Amino acid sequence: MKRALICGVSGQDGSYLARLLISKGYEVFGSSRDAQMEGFNNLRALGIKDEMSLLSIATTDFRNVLQAISQVAPDEIYNLAGQSSVAMSFEQPLQTMESIGISTLNFLEAIRFTGAKTKFYNAGSSECFGAAAAQPCDEGTPFRPRSPYAVAKAAAFWSVANYREAYGLHACTGILFNHESPLRPERFVTRKIISTAARIASGSEEKLHLGNLSISRDWGWAPEYVEAMWMMMQLDDAQDLVIATGHTCTLEEFVSAAFASVGLCWRDHVVTDEKLFRPTDLTESRANPAMAHKLLGWRAKSAMLDVVHRMMEAELDRPGTINH
Ligand code: NDP
Repeated sequence: MKRALICGVSGQDGSYLARLLISKGYEVFGSSRDAQMEGFNNLRALGIKDEMSLLSIATTDFRNVLQAISQVAPDEIYNLAGQSSVAMSFEQPLQTMESIGISTLNFLEAIRFTGAKTKFYNAGSSECFGAAAAQPCDEGTPFRPRSPYAVAKAAAFWSVANYREAYGLHACTGILFNHESPLRPERFVTRKIISTAARIASGSEEKLHLGNLSISRDWGWAPEYVEAMWMMMQLDDAQDLVIATGHTCTLEEFVSAAFASVGLCWRDHVVTDEKLFRPTDLTESRANPAMAHKLLGWRAKSAMLDVVHRMMEAELDRPGTINH
C-alpha cells in the first residue's frame, strides 16, 4: 500500500486529492497547521474525514517538517499548503513568501536530508506567468510575476527545479490555472459570485460588489486537476507541467453565466467597486496545456459553463438557500 502525505488537506484541492488517493488504495495522511482546531469541513462534506490520518505540520518550521516526514515515511508528498489568495498576498507579503517559498524549501531540504526516495509535488500557479499570460502559456514561457503570491510561487518553482537538477529528487511543479468547485471559500471571486447570485435568486436584495470584470481566466473543475497532480507523480522522470482547460473567458462571462443559471440578468445585480481592484492584476490569462495531454494523456473535460452549473447546483442544495 502506498503512503501519501497531503499538506493543506483541509483546502479545496487537498480534500479532492485525498478522496482520489483513498479511492486508489493509498494510505493517506493529511496535514493542517493545527489539526486539533481545524474542522475539516471539506473532508466531512466528501465523507472521507475518518478514512485518513490527520496531523499538524507547521510547514515553515524545518524541524517539524523533517520530523513529520520521518514519522510518516510517505512515498509521495503533495504540498498544497500555503497562503493561497492573490488579493491577501498584497496585505501579507511576508506571510505569503514564508508559507510558500520557505515551506517548499523545507520539504525539499528534509527529503534530501533523509535520503529517502520520497516524491514531491509542488502546487505551482499560472499567476507566475504574470504579464506574459496574454499569450497561451506553456512550460517554456518565462515567468513575470505581478503579485507577492506569484513571486512566492515562482521562488518555490525554482527551488523544486533546482533540487531536481542538483540532487536528483523526484520533484515536480504543477503549474495550475484556476480551478473551482463548491469547496472554494467565499473569499475567492468565483464562489462569491455563485453564492451571492444564489441568495439573490432566493429573494435577497443585496448587490454583488466586484472589481475588474474585464479580466479573463482559464477556469477548470478542481476534481479533474487533482487527477493531473497524481498522474504527474507517476511519471518516471519528474517534470513541471501546465494544467489548464486551454479556454479563456472573461469574469463578465462567468458572472453572466452564474446569474443566467438562476434566471437572472447580472446587470441588474452587480456593482463595480474600485476598492476591489488590485494594485497589479493580470488582465488576461491564457494556457496551452498540450504537454500535459502528451505526457499524461490528461485533458480537462469540464469547461467554464460546466463549472458554473455544478457550483450553482451545490450552492442551491446548501441549507439556507431555497432550491429552485
Ligand atoms: P486552499 O486555500 O483551499 O487550501 C490551502 C490550504 O493551505 C488551507 O486549507 C490551509 O490549511 C493551508 N494554509 C492557508 N494559509 C496558510 C499559511 N499562511 N501557511 C500555511 N498553510 C496555510 O487552496 P486550494 O486547495 O485552492 O489550492 C491548493 C494549492 O494550490 C495552494 O497552494 C494554491 O496556492 C495552489 N493553487 C490553487 C489554484 C486554484 O485555482 N485553486 C490555482 C493554482 C495554484 P490549514 O488552515 O488547515 O493549515
